[in-house]
Amino acid sequence: MNIILFGPPGAGKGTQAKNIVKKINGFQISTGDILRDEIKKDTEIGKRIINDMNDGKFVSDHIVNELIKNYIFDPLKKGNIIFDGYPRTLSQAKSLDLLLDESNQKIDLIFFLNVNKDVIIERIKKRKILENRSDDNLDTILKRYETYMETTKPVLDFYSKNSNFKEIDGSLEIDQITSKIDTFLNV
Ligand code: AMP
Repeated sequence: MNIILFGPPGAGKGTQAKNIVKKINGFQISTGDILRDEIKKDTEIGKRIINDMNDGKFVSDHIVNELIKNYIFDPLKKGNIIFDGYPRTLSQAKSLDLLLDESNQKIDLIFFLNVNKDVIIERIKKRKILENRSDDNLDTILKRYETYMETTKPVLDFYSKNSNFKEIDGSLEIDQITSKIDTFLNV
């Protein structure tokens, strides 16, 4: 089963992705993690994206689409991928469609964790203390939320027409969200 997890920063995508991974024995592909890893390893890409990441801006579609290709075509992961934080723009969604077509795959479920701005700000403040992420300060959080609203919203509108699109109240407790997701996974 291939699944897309949508939602603003702080909606709990990462946490729920890990739950889904366990339940369906799948592979989480988090573009945020992949990009942070490039920075940590100080690669050429890492050097090009560090400023945008720290400013809460999106990394270019070209870089993200190139990085994700290998994962989509990986025979070990194919058909069992949980996309966390991707696609985030219409261009990425279109690129994903093409890559899935080329590799004979489809998206089975799309979960949208819907959370409002105030809840997100509180959650990210807590995460900053727990994970010490350099992009988790208040200014960056607000920038990331605005970027999300501007660019991810059209992707959401695009996917929300699909019958496999499921909106979930992301302000619920983690366990409550998990059990709602599990209902759709049939586990
Ligand atoms: P995340 O861990 O998903 O919250 O992502 C952290 C940061 O990584 C974002 O604020 C963006 O700068 C960058 N990023 C992650 N995924 C994408 C994506 N699909 N497209 C562009 N930038 C991304």
